[in-house]
Amino acid sequence: MKLLEDRILRDGQVRPGNVLKVDCFLNHQLDVKLLDAIGAEFYRIFANDGVTKILTIEASGIAIACMTARHFNVPVVFAKKAKSKNIDGDVYTSVVHSFTYGKDYDITLSKKFLTPEDRVLIVDDFLANGKAMKGLLDVCHQAGATVAGIGICIEKGFQPGGDELRKAGYKLASLAIVDHMDDHSLTFRQQD
Ligand code: 5GP
Repeated sequence: MKLLEDRILRDGQVRPGNVLKVDCFLNHQLDVKLLDAIGAEFYRIFANDGVTKILTIEASGIAIACMTARHFNVPVVFAKKAKSKNIDGDVYTSVVHSFTYGKDYDITLSKKFLTPEDRVLIVDDFLANGKAMKGLLDVCHQAGATVAGIGICIEKGFQPGGDELRKAGYKLASLAIVDHMDDHSLTFRQQD
């Protein structure tokens, strides 16, 4: 998606540890017009996949999920990182290893918000090693829901998450795939 690639080139900052900072438009300060265009692009790609729910993980995915859901006219549900008490086994839980913080955390999702009837589009801001996505896929699996697709704003193509998900057969759309980045340059994978 050229609009997103151009914005990354203009405002993205490469930080030590292979971290791309895009907090002035994607995950701290939010460019709502850009997010709306991202939502429209996910709709163009997944419109015929019978999506009934948009799933993401707090906090960065929520704005993207909401702007996407407007186009699909379906609800958003997000996995929580804070521990909630699993009274009566009423939540699905999974463990995720955080790329940015380097430690494990639990995610939880209330069982009433994901059912076997759901066809889920999972969205997130970044895909790196794929650990956050594995947690979300695990939650869908526990719910018996169908994963209709995965929509990512920025995939870091030099980390294995994206290619593993493609190999596993998921319909994965990454709007920008960064193949290389350092202090001086950043290049994208060509996509059709
Ligand atoms: P993964 O679990 O695929 O290794 O990493 C994905 C998660 O880590 C995303 O939810 C995102 O919040 C965070 N993340 C991974 N790489 C980056 C990055 O380069 N920049 C930022 N801002 N977040 C990242």
